[in-house]
Amino acid sequence: MKLTHIEHIGIAVKNLTDSISYYENVLGLKCYAIEEVKDQKVKTAFFKIGETKIELLESTDPEGPIGKFIEKKGEGIHHLAFAVNKIESAIEEVDSKGIKLIDKKARKGAEGLDIAFLHPKSTGGVLTELCENKNK
Ligand code: ZN
Repeated sequence: MKLTHIEHIGIAVKNLTDSISYYENVLGLKCYAIEEVKDQKVKTAFFKIGETKIELLESTDPEGPIGKFIEKKGEGIHHLAFAVNKIESAIEEVDSKGIKLIDKKARKGAEGLDIAFLHPKSTGGVLTELCENKNK
């Protein structure tokens, strides 16, 4: 598998509006997209820094993955996403190396990316996402 760059860093927040204000008014970034991912029960806001993005995640449901994360750990870094050139073969490769997968098959994430999560139990505690942008 070939990782090309860090696609984004996912950060769990309680309130998207408050957090956007911090990233824009303090760090000087510009939010270029807000998107709801119903599947994941989140509303996301995106910022770009070079090739990498910051993805803020606000839960739309306390029972969703981000709702549960915030309940347990509070706000903070939720996952790290790597861009890969071929997600299907990357999934097969990590699977064959005994890594526990959350997604055995790629699915659609925010921004129309094909994504799959690796379980933090197999990745040194870091919830890891692989993404491929097939739209470019
Ligand atoms: Zn993500």
